[in-house]
Amino acid sequence: MAPAQPLLAIDRLSCAYAGQPAVRDLTLALAPGELGCLLGPSGCGKTTLLRAIAGFHAPASGALLLRGRDARALPPEARGLGFVFQDLALFPHLTVAGNVAFGLHRLPRGDRAARVAETLAMIGLEGLGERYPHELSGGQQQRVALARSLAPRPDLLLLDEPFSSLDADLRGRLRDDLRALLKRLGIAALLVTHDQEEAFAFADTVGVMQAGTLLQWAPGFELYHRPATPFVASFVGEGRFLPAMVLAGGRVATALGELDVAGELPWPVGSAVRVLLRPDDLHPADDGGIEAVVESIAFRGAETLHTLSLPDGTQLTALVPSHQQRAPGSTMRVRPDLAHVVVFAA
Ligand code: ATP
Repeated sequence: MAPAQPLLAIDRLSCAYAGQPAVRDLTLALAPGELGCLLGPSGCGKTTLLRAIAGFHAPASGALLLRGRDARALPPEARGLGFVFQDLALFPHLTVAGNVAFGLHRLPRGDRAARVAETLAMIGLEGLGERYPHELSGGQQQRVALARSLAPRPDLLLLDEPFSSLDADLRGRLRDDLRALLKRLGIAALLVTHDQEEAFAFADTVGVMQAGTLLQWAPGFELYHRPATPFVASFVGEGRFLPAMVLAGGRVATALGELDVAGELPWPVGSAVRVLLRPDDLHPADDGGIEAVVESIAFRGAETLHTLSLPDGTQLTALVPSHQQRAPGSTMRVRPDLAHVVVFAA
């Protein structure tokens, strides 16, 4: 069976401001109903990409297909997308119902009130239709912006940091509610965020961008366990690099002993490389293992993050159940236990 046509297909897209590149040669595809997320440091081009998809920024080159058709010449209103940007841009002089009805001019007049009521109920704003935006809490205003973008039932929603003004608890709740609602309605979305936890909790597929380039586009699990580049490895989750040397037979030698890479390495035997070590890859060992000095600890609740130094001076981190945490300056034995050994050039 042929794979379903992507809802959004971007191929080698580049965007620039006055000749300064902001998005470089970027390729990605989003399937109908798929929830994607763009993650990356400030200024890496996330918003520019979203604006290019929405039709607010004209790309310099590359292809942009929506539902299999070239979208580059279409004005924003003809692209059939919903968007929620950071500044909610609610209409202050319209009620909640008026705001939500705003994009429904294509719907027969008699159906609009029912669609508004249905959308308000879905997003948890039942009974608030007659209020004005200034009579709502920040979280409720955010829900109105989402309801307004969802009311026309677009097949793709673009979200630029829509939860950034909310406190952590509310943010988490709204994110989870929105994910469930989009999945129920089969609406795809592309969310821009700085927040990894938000990206992993919301999205099926996460893209990591750096300086205009998409480094990897993959499920969160894959990004964490099989990062494509050292930048992705250190940007997603915590991790340190352990110096290593390539041995024969897909093994590497490190200060923690030999590790099995489970596959061929692209470097000749004897090459200097580095191995990614996540804090959950290193475990306290009663006997055996390697003795390390506890440099510092950071209490995290259930677990405590220990920063350790090995006899050769390499610093690593280890998550230890907090009731077993050690004092800075003490020594502890640790043993690596890696499901995937990720190796990069030194
Ligand atoms: P943030 O997370 O801070 O919102 P971002 O990843 O969304 O950042 P963009 O806003 O897309 O990044 O910006 C990408 C690059 O383009 C940055 O170097 C930025 O300074 C530049 N840029 C963005 N908007 C404009 C503009 N209107 N004119 C000129 N340069 C711009």
